[in-house]
Amino acid sequence: MQEYPRYLYRAPFVVTGTGPVLVDGAVLTEEGVVTAVGPFAELRGADAKLEEYDGHVIVPGLVNGHAHLELSHLADLSREGQGTPPADMTVWIRELLAARALAQDEAENDLAARLALARLYAGGCRAVLDIGNLPESRFIGEDFKTQVYFHLELFGLSGEVEQAALDSLRAQPADICCTAHAPYSSGPALIRAAKERARGQGAPFPIHVAESAAEDAFLRTGGGPFADFLQEKGLMGDAFAVPGCGAVSYLDALGVLDEKTLCVHGVHVSDAEIAILARRGAAVCLCPGSNRFLGVGTAPLARYLAAGVPLLLGTDSLASNPELSLWREMQLLRQEHPEVDPAAVFAMATENGGRFLGLGHRLGVIAPGVGASSLLAVRCAAQSVEAMFAKLTTVGSEVRLEWLE
Ligand SMILES: [Zn+2]
Repeated sequence: MQEYPRYLYRAPFVVTGTGPVLVDGAVLTEEGVVTAVGPFAELRGADAKLEEYDGHVIVPGLVNGHAHLELSHLADLSREGQGTPPADMTVWIRELLAARALAQDEAENDLAARLALARLYAGGCRAVLDIGNLPESRFIGEDFKTQVYFHLELFGLSGEVEQAALDSLRAQPADICCTAHAPYSSGPALIRAAKERARGQGAPFPIHVAESAAEDAFLRTGGGPFADFLQEKGLMGDAFAVPGCGAVSYLDALGVLDEKTLCVHGVHVSDAEIAILARRGAAVCLCPGSNRFLGVGTAPLARYLAAGVPLLLGTDSLASNPELSLWREMQLLRQEHPEVDPAAVFAMATENGGRFLGLGHRLGVIAPGVGASSLLAVRCAAQSVEAMFAKLTTVGSEVRLEWLE
């Protein structure tokens, strides 16, 4: 509990996410809730305990658009393979499945997931869109300040395996959010049914889309490494009707793209598909750290921004990313896309996530009504707003921050 009923936090810059950056800004809180945000000159008379954050920026807590906390015990996969991407994604998937089959200690796996979530919180992450294959993974976020929006992920491409996934989907309790894994692993009926369920719940629908060239080849031709892999694992079921187009076009034909759909990765997309996403209002979550580790390519960030596609940023899991840090993800994006406005990159890690979740008034922003526990002070000495965003988006793992409450 805090000692005083009201606090006035002052910093050279306050990033609100709802309007221009406040220079010499201040945030007034009462009983743990923001009651006013504005220039310090306007709020200085408030009857509140003044907390000065010289050399800092006050920003909203970050929103991680994509993670698999339940894979956190498989961190060795990304530690050992650094610098040498697999020949194609199926190589890594094989390693992942093998490692997962060996690691059966549920208590140990659960502990790894909770430690990963604690690390996300320590890194300033206030909310995370999490995906898992185990229903019990929805409890990972219990007792954490980082809000976990969990989705149970199902897969099964066709025939019996797809039907089994559909049966499982229907058997899930009404309060569990569900999704389909990806267009190369989940059949059209499963993708549609999962989206229908999400629509009925008013829930987000995150789905892996256009991550690798192998996925693109499989959807266009039915061949390539994924065809071999799926056959071998018995996941093809009966013959899968090859869509003969890119992943985004395919999902659009299935009618599952709307403003609640989050296309995760979105690396291999055409300009026409970017236009489709923009038209549908569907969001894309970029995961540059995971993409780099797996060697799948770089998402067309500038073209997404130019088209007005809502963009989020995600870490993905420790199995394909050596670090769970949105600061590092921002840093990687800036390295790969030096032409892009740093403020737009910062918005991807904050306000865009809140807006996508339908919580734009209280998540990823600083505004009256927001919990003071969602505010961060980040060490950052800068002379201008531009320099401040440039630093925030390139500080990476060197970031020093504290939660205001
Ligand atoms: Zn993922």
